[in-house]
Amino acid sequence: MAGCRFGPAGNCDGFYAAGYRRTEQEPLYLKPLALDAFEYSFGRGVTLGEEAAGRIRKAMEEGGIALSVHAPYFINLCVEDAGRVEKNLGYFLKTARAALWMGASRAVFHPGAVTKMSRERAMELAAPLLKKILFELDAAGFGALTFCPETMGKINQFGDLTEVIALCRLDERLIPAVDFAHLHARGRGALNTPEDFAAVLDALENGVGQERARKMHVHFSRIEFTAMGEKRHHTFAEREYGPEFAPLSRLLAERGYEARIICESAGTQAEDAAAMKEQYLQACAALPAMNGCAQEPKVL
Ligand SMILES: [Zn+2]
Repeated sequence: MAGCRFGPAGNCDGFYAAGYRRTEQEPLYLKPLALDAFEYSFGRGVTLGEEAAGRIRKAMEEGGIALSVHAPYFINLCVEDAGRVEKNLGYFLKTARAALWMGASRAVFHPGAVTKMSRERAMELAAPLLKKILFELDAAGFGALTFCPETMGKINQFGDLTEVIALCRLDERLIPAVDFAHLHARGRGALNTPEDFAAVLDALENGVGQERARKMHVHFSRIEFTAMGEKRHHTFAEREYGPEFAPLSRLLAERGYEARIICESAGTQAEDAAAMKEQYLQACAALPAMNGCAQEPKVL
């Protein structure tokens, strides 16, 4: 089935409660939930060996699970110092090598921190560094992996929607990773109405073109925020926190998106991903027959 794919970020509580331990067992847990995507975290560093990566690759391929990885949280493109530039390059190269061992097709990364510099200065540093890193990745033979800069949840982080779009415009292979919880948090509760979500998709389509926007990578969860932005991710059961997925699910169906949607709920991420998929399929079913994305998505 074409259309959007859904899955969790990391092994959820239910996975361990069911007696599973290792990531290569994920397809056994995801299949009954009808999920077909998974995101593996290198957030605290890339420690996975080639052999273990090979087992994950085989299991995910057999299970029909689209695999993505999350690059280390230490990545920060807003740096000048040669030593820190080298370190960043190292994180990208290590991520790419392990991701390709695992058969992952996408790697999400956090673009960086603005700290005390201006946002303009942050972009002046990040843009050439990202280009240099992509060049080095190609030179190392890792060009097959798609990198996805993520929208960040704290206001002092580099990576609001405009900045992520600007980064993606540097190279047509980059795909935006839109964390809707982060956008909601840094906008202090900005995503509520269908129009709020449509504005995000419109900005993406105008910025990187409809084709890339439709393939976007998505992180979704409910989130708690302060005046500074993101505080913590919550589960779908904690209904006092937004944003809601329903308005987005209808837009994804109407616009024929083929996004990869990763749920980042704390602990219930697979079950919440399944709930999102259910909402999305209902939205597809409610479309006029020819545009029903459960059959074949049409570009509107
Ligand atoms: Zn992230």
